[in-house]
Amino acid sequence: MNDYLELQAIRKNFGNTRVLDNVDLQIREGELVTLLGPSGCGKSTLLRCIAGLADPDSGRILLEKKDLTQLPPRSREVGMVFQSYALFPNLTVRENMEYGLKMRRASKDVMRRRSEELLALVDLEDKRDAYPQQLSGGQQQRVALARSLAVQPKLLLLDEPLSALDAKIRKNLRTEIREIQKRFKMTTIFVTHDQEEALTVSDRICIMNKGVIVQDGIPEALYNSPRTEFVARFMGSYN
Ligand code: ADP
Ligand code: MG
Repeated sequence: MNDYLELQAIRKNFGNTRVLDNVDLQIREGELVTLLGPSGCGKSTLLRCIAGLADPDSGRILLEKKDLTQLPPRSREVGMVFQSYALFPNLTVRENMEYGLKMRRASKDVMRRRSEELLALVDLEDKRDAYPQQLSGGQQQRVALARSLAVQPKLLLLDEPLSALDAKIRKNLRTEIREIQKRFKMTTIFVTHDQEEALTVSDRICIMNKGVIVQDGIPEALYNSPRTEFVARFMGSYN
């Protein structure tokens, strides 16, 4: 198997609550895999374990065969976008995009070239000198996406990046994210609790419930052949 990312038996408890129960997951290079499940089922915790923002109690995380499990977040080459915009409020759009490169001691030329490319990519060239609070929610999420791509991560984690946005903007932005993901062949895990969103953006969907991946497959298979009542209900197969 040519697995790019491999999660092996990831387990995580908070107190006496088992939040991740032996999660196994393999992802191929360039794939967009969606974790779809109700609030509280462990989606964010799983992403946080992959990014190094939480420690699994047991299990291993391999990226291109390299074991990340003990590495600090900075060394993992994983980018993450959250539901609420985590932009630096005191930095301009361009400075936000260049921040990660600056931390990696990139030259001014490289930073400038990369930020201009990304500003064009997310169509915000006229906002390069604006501050986050001068942007709409959708624009802020586009900056967050561009910023996470600036350091050319090996893996992109999107934790409900559209949930705080209006329905119309949400639809446009999910199409944009999918186009950018395909263009860069960026291996991506996309988290959502919205089945329509999952059906439209994903190469593959993993349905999660109570810390377990209950079914994993291409969108059509999950929709047409749900293995359990829970999956059927979640995929809207009964409509
Ligand atoms: P999801 O993203 O699917 O909504 P989470 O991963 O955020 O779910 O949370 C899964 C469960 O773990 C929830 O019951 C939540 O309350 C609990 N949880 C998450 N983070 C913590 C934490 N830092 N301390 C204690 N419990 C937590
Ligand atoms: Mg969450």
